[in-house]
Amino acid sequence: MSGAEKAGKNFKIALIAGDGIGPEVTAEARKAADAAASSDGAKLEWSAFPFGAAHYLSSGEILPKSSLSELAEFDALMLGAIGAPSVKPGILERGILLELRFAFDQYINLRPARSLPNVPTPVPLGGRVMDSVVIRENTEDLYMGLGGVSSSADGLFETRLDLKRGGYTLAGELKLSVSPGMSFAVQAALNTRHGVERITRYACETAGRRGETRVTIVTKSNAAPALYGYFEDTAKQVIDSEYPGIKYDVVNVDALCYHLVRDPLAYGVLLCPNLFGDIVSDLQAGLAGGLGTAAGGNIGDGLSMFEPVHGSAPDIAGTGRANPIAAVLSGALMLRHIGLENAALNVERAVGDYLEHSPRAELPFEFGGGAACSEVGGSILKKLQEGDNGEFRS
Ligand code: ATP
Repeated sequence: MSGAEKAGKNFKIALIAGDGIGPEVTAEARKAADAAASSDGAKLEWSAFPFGAAHYLSSGEILPKSSLSELAEFDALMLGAIGAPSVKPGILERGILLELRFAFDQYINLRPARSLPNVPTPVPLGGRVMDSVVIRENTEDLYMGLGGVSSSADGLFETRLDLKRGGYTLAGELKLSVSPGMSFAVQAALNTRHGVERITRYACETAGRRGETRVTIVTKSNAAPALYGYFEDTAKQVIDSEYPGIKYDVVNVDALCYHLVRDPLAYGVLLCPNLFGDIVSDLQAGLAGGLGTAAGGNIGDGLSMFEPVHGSAPDIAGTGRANPIAAVLSGALMLRHIGLENAALNVERAVGDYLEHSPRAELPFEFGGGAACSEVGGSILKKLQEGDNGEFRS
């Protein structure tokens, strides 16, 4: 549904504020998203869900199946952060984040990397603006959960597969032996035509939306020709046959990292298999200014989920030192996703305007300022209400 069709309508937004600084930063993201949506003639109706560490510890519940069908009714989900030192790592990440990602077949991980005014970058940009985006395939590759460790030193490993993913099922068995017998670990990776085609289409459409004509396919087909050669060839076929206006280049992931630290502006849209996208998007986030501003979205054809890249940061939770900008910009990605392009742009412009024109004391602690999380959110909201925040992009 387009923004015009939805103008004047209400959107149902689910909120999992989660743990640590999650509730603090999403409170500010919500204020900004509400204000921007309303100036675009729309209204966001929020429903909060309690999932996270505190809920798990008090009730034993992680993410009940019933909540998945409830969440399916929403237009989008905003998530703060999941995880706390009091819970063994992995339980909530797998039980909530990965469960949501697979249940709603969120096959796109969208990670823009943009430098912002007065946000220090580790590699000097010489006054230029970094504006790149990683489009990471989010369901396949090494993250299928195909593997294990041989149970004994006899060198045998056997497992049955019965996986359901959006669009297909994968069934069969994986049986390996090592001789002479010794223990070993195996983790198999898989890329399907369905998976590569749909992420490639999204990358091409993203390039088009950004007014660009180039997509960079990130690969390692020299070392893993079956897996990444297949990804590369399939992506090329999609672009050649369906996107005549888009050109591609192909770069090995190791060379890409090398080029990026020498020139963070070298690339625009980066199309990555899951594993490389995970790594490259964090590199890009670091180059663009760090966790405090890195926004992300997990997008599918059903419920999509928007969250800052940072985690729960328990070390600063409750101190007011959390920077809400990553969450606010994730809110902008959410607004864009539900069709409120103007509202999304207004949030992004307000963030840029605030960072560019605020005295140092009013900037987040992370950037050498003294403004608490709610004060940063308040300043961004004020800019939004004033309007006319100039251009976000260079
Ligand atoms: P988790 O296990 O939930 O990922 P973590 O502390 O291991 O939590 P992050 O939350 O990603 O990992 O944060 C790493 C560090 O970066 C934190 O200790 C914190 O000091 C800093 N940090 C993260 N997010 C922010 C933020 N929004 N504002 C300021 N500092 C932040």
